[in-house]
Amino acid sequence: MSYESADAVVIGSGIGGMCAAARLTAMGMKVIVVEKSPYPGGRCSHREREGCLVTTGALMIPMGPDSAIRQAFDAVGAEMDMVDITGRMRYRLNHGDYDLPPGGGGLYGMIEFAMGDETEARALFGRIRDALFNWMPLDTISIREWLDQYTDNVEVKNLFQGYCAALMGTNLHEIPAGEFFRFLKYSSKGSRFGLARHGNGALMESLSAALTRLGSEVRCQRGCKSILVENGRVTGVVISDNNGQERRIEAGIVLSNTGPDKTVELAGGEQQFERSYIARLRRDAADAPIFHVSFVMDRPLIEDFDGCLVFGNNRNLIYLEIPSAISPGTISPAGKYLHTAYGAPANAAEADLPGELANTLAELEKNFPGVTEEAQFLVKAKHSGLFPGMRRWAGYGMPVNTPISGLYNVGDGCAPPGTIGTESAAASARVAVEMIAGRSLS
Ligand SMILES: Cc1cc2nc3c(=O)[nH]c(=O)nc-3n(C[C@H](O)[C@H](O)[C@H](O)COP(=O)(O)OP(=O)(O)OC[C@H]3O[C@@H](n4cnc5c(N)ncnc54)[C@H](O)[C@@H]3O)c2cc1C
Repeated sequence: MSYESADAVVIGSGIGGMCAAARLTAMGMKVIVVEKSPYPGGRCSHREREGCLVTTGALMIPMGPDSAIRQAFDAVGAEMDMVDITGRMRYRLNHGDYDLPPGGGGLYGMIEFAMGDETEARALFGRIRDALFNWMPLDTISIREWLDQYTDNVEVKNLFQGYCAALMGTNLHEIPAGEFFRFLKYSSKGSRFGLARHGNGALMESLSAALTRLGSEVRCQRGCKSILVENGRVTGVVISDNNGQERRIEAGIVLSNTGPDKTVELAGGEQQFERSYIARLRRDAADAPIFHVSFVMDRPLIEDFDGCLVFGNNRNLIYLEIPSAISPGTISPAGKYLHTAYGAPANAAEADLPGELANTLAELEKNFPGVTEEAQFLVKAKHSGLFPGMRRWAGYGMPVNTPISGLYNVGDGCAPPGTIGTESAAASARVAVEMIAGRSLS
């Protein structure tokens, strides 16, 4: 077996792995990222289909100055070429559509639109302010149970359900109340989000090129076979090289972006880990499945709006965006409009994946009669298991450090409180690298 060494190895080039590599590289470390697939990015990349840049997962990418993603790009001088769509949000309820005011601050307006009664809306808004700035509810009840205390208005619950499923990945009855408010706080503090102008894959290439310029490396088609552990400390990894040969990379720091379960497997199984860690890993271990439907049309399905449409009037269909309308000329061939819609199971824990994907498509047709006939469908996918919407539900993230010294997890399986999706993966990288920096200083 051939050998080499690095200061740190990152297993997997998802947004969490790449942001961790960027931060470590910016600290002066030589980092090797090994990725089993031919492309970097995992669920934050794209593939070309019929001339369109179709996402492998995420569409809405945080990009404001406080975003852990932006900070990782900035740390290594990588360009983040985005179209800013902050505030371009429309919510669809049974009785109509509500557009958030572009300047922000639309939460009260949305609630009033849903409830149709100013006094009731003011009362509920007051409770929400209290939860944000005075007594934040604990995670002992769901956000659905929290709402049930204060209102029986069905439409406002539909609004919150759409918000939770589309922006937090699971449902009103599955998200702990405290986590809901932590997310609301995190995502409202000056945050901006956008669409990658040339697809998420271009973002990953930009980060990868910056890492290479600074002496680190991103190697695709290099699967990690095992994580090496001696006397409770990580010592490196064994990877499969592009010629199929095994190769050992020695490193005192290993960050796994493969998900906490896979990390345990790669490191030799449960017996290598302290029991409380495994107990936490096995408790509340469900992932959050998601449905992805992408299709092309000769016209945009919505003429008067080019932002994010969140649905609170369906069982499964939760979100629609028209990337070609948001970024004309970069996402699809001239005269063609790429549309991407997402669906979520009504119960993340007991999803009927085929049935609920079919219903996502039926609800697309219900909302836009004739679309099934008119559109050319490029993707109709069920994401769960190794390629889920989120590796663990909002509020149930694992810690980034592990009982094995020098071994960390980064990615959306370790979402820090109040974070979701790509931002959670990048934020987990920020936490892990801060721990590593603290360790090397002490
Ligand atoms: C359909 C869909 C829509 C979504 N929409 C949004 C959205 O709009 N906004 C948002 O913020 N988030 C969204 N998300 C969630 C977001 O995509 C993920 O939270 C985020 O991309 C996860 O990143 P990660 O760092 O955890 O790694 P992943 O993307 O899971 O990447 C892990 C990488 O590790 C590699 N790997 C695995 N095992 C090995 C091994 N043994 N050796 C080497 N490499 C290995 C994999 O090939 C992969 O590239 C969506 C997800 C899906 C599926």
